[in-house]
Amino acid sequence: MMKQQVLGHEATHQRFVHLMQEDKLPHAWLLHGFRGVGKSMLAQQLAAVYLCQHRTACGTCHSCCMLAAKSHPDFVQLGVLWDEKKKKFLRNINIAQIRDVLSFLALSGMQSQRRVVILDDADAMNNQAANALLKGLEEPTDGSLLLIICHDLTHLPATIRSRCMLEHCAPLGDRDMQQVLSQMRLPEKIMPLASSLTLGCPGNIAALQDGDVAQACLQWYELTMDLSTADIGALYDHLQKYLHIIPHDLIIAMLMLPLQMILEKTEKKAMVSYAAKEKLFDAAQQLLMWPAEVIRHSLRPAPALLSRILVMRLALKGMTM
Ligand SMILES: [Zn+2]
Repeated sequence: MMKQQVLGHEATHQRFVHLMQEDKLPHAWLLHGFRGVGKSMLAQQLAAVYLCQHRTACGTCHSCCMLAAKSHPDFVQLGVLWDEKKKKFLRNINIAQIRDVLSFLALSGMQSQRRVVILDDADAMNNQAANALLKGLEEPTDGSLLLIICHDLTHLPATIRSRCMLEHCAPLGDRDMQQVLSQMRLPEKIMPLASSLTLGCPGNIAALQDGDVAQACLQWYELTMDLSTADIGALYDHLQKYLHIIPHDLIIAMLMLPLQMILEKTEKKAMVSYAAKEKLFDAAQQLLMWPAEVIRHSLRPAPALLSRILVMRLALKGMTM
């Protein structure tokens, strides 16, 4: 029995299978689209189809079993490495990593002639790594398949893009999203919030499957629904207690939900002064930058966020709604 196709990306799956059957499969595929849209899951499924003895990702053949057990000798997945000392992900994918996988692809497969590499977070390659990859793309070996995952296509050199089969992974439509939500078995009371946070990218809310995270998110959302009157002490306590379990992007997404409505309203209101609007936009922008800046400048997340919330609060108070 064939495993279910990744919801929302069936067309890419079918194109892949079709080209494979016709023996016209390109050596390198570049899956691009928003974070959380399901690219990694799709890449894993395509790899499974490619390596499967029945070429269907049957889930039962020797190859599929090894893949499920993460012990397939002809499959490698790489991305940014975890730094055990600093307890965080490294910023870049380096040239040594790329050289390793290229020499792996140049070998002949152990189980068959086929080998697959999934290169996740390709946006994070530094220049040297990207140049090394380019060389590999120019001289592909028979039976090798490279599935590249990239969140923002503009971060990759055009020379790499032009040597790959480009597949855009679009956010899921409402119907697919509803189905994903029901499969996720989220706690009932988080459902309305969850569906407004997904934006068609199931990965955005994957963390909500954990009951504690869901509860902490719900409380955060309630605390921050009206920032101009929010209890700052309570916000800080909540951050201190739960920030380590809530993904930073979710924290921001929840702050942005009520703000979006305010921003839309002020757009229409001629009465609000230009200076006040600008302040609000600036404050919103600072909030949005917080997750990246925490990483880039090794900031302490809770105080850094709180200071931005205070700026936002001031901006909101400056508006006469
Ligand atoms: Zn199989």
